[in-house]
Amino acid sequence: MWAIGHQGNGKPCCLTRMIIRQYFDDLISLFFPPTCAGCDMPLTYGEHLICTVCWFHLPYTNGHRDSCNGSARLFWGRVQLAAVASYLYFMDDSRVQRILHRYKYRGCPEIGTLMGLRYGELLIATPPFNQIDVIVPVPLHRAKLRKRGYNQSAFFARGLSQVMQKPVVIDGLVRNRAADTQTRKTRYERHENVLNTFAMNNSRGLAGRHVLLVDDVLTTGATIEACASVLLAGGVADVSAVTIAKTV
Ligand SMILES: [Zn+2]
Repeated sequence: MWAIGHQGNGKPCCLTRMIIRQYFDDLISLFFPPTCAGCDMPLTYGEHLICTVCWFHLPYTNGHRDSCNGSARLFWGRVQLAAVASYLYFMDDSRVQRILHRYKYRGCPEIGTLMGLRYGELLIATPPFNQIDVIVPVPLHRAKLRKRGYNQSAFFARGLSQVMQKPVVIDGLVRNRAADTQTRKTRYERHENVLNTFAMNNSRGLAGRHVLLVDDVLTTGATIEACASVLLAGGVADVSAVTIAKTV
């Protein structure tokens, strides 16, 4: 039986607060059971954010094992990257789309951290990803950051960092202006739109290092191309890049 402790001054101790918090969380779960971000089914005991069935069925690219994977090929002839890989394939009306929608737009950035923890386990065993020095998330413009409240790529970076034991340099890149919405633009227009959008933060000691650039979804590659170009021009030794998903 639990002994409810006090600090001697009448205030509940840490253990008591934890137990009360657990009771409260259980009570909330009783009325509003947490559901899986991928399939919306209630999560069972021990599951967190994404259910076991979804983890099993997610479309993994395994691109980190293949230097000629689809994400890497996207940058051939555009910018020199040491390695590129995406964790999952992104398709419309899929588990991955639903997971990323909750991650980006429905206030659940912890999904990014979870993805980083899982993907980091694969990357630390795979050269050249296991030779990186620092992790830099693609930055959001201040206006977008205010509106959304968080930079989702920073949460992905945090999960990778925990497993790979490499620091996150959150402001290694700065975004000078907000990119217009990309959805109705041609590939060339998107490229023009992001060029000159980013700048390297020279006070963060990135020169001479191997930077792992991280973003959520890889579509045309224009954002990562622009960020990598800025980093390499600023004296970074190598740039690799990973994303949670890649559109197909
Ligand atoms: Zn599920």
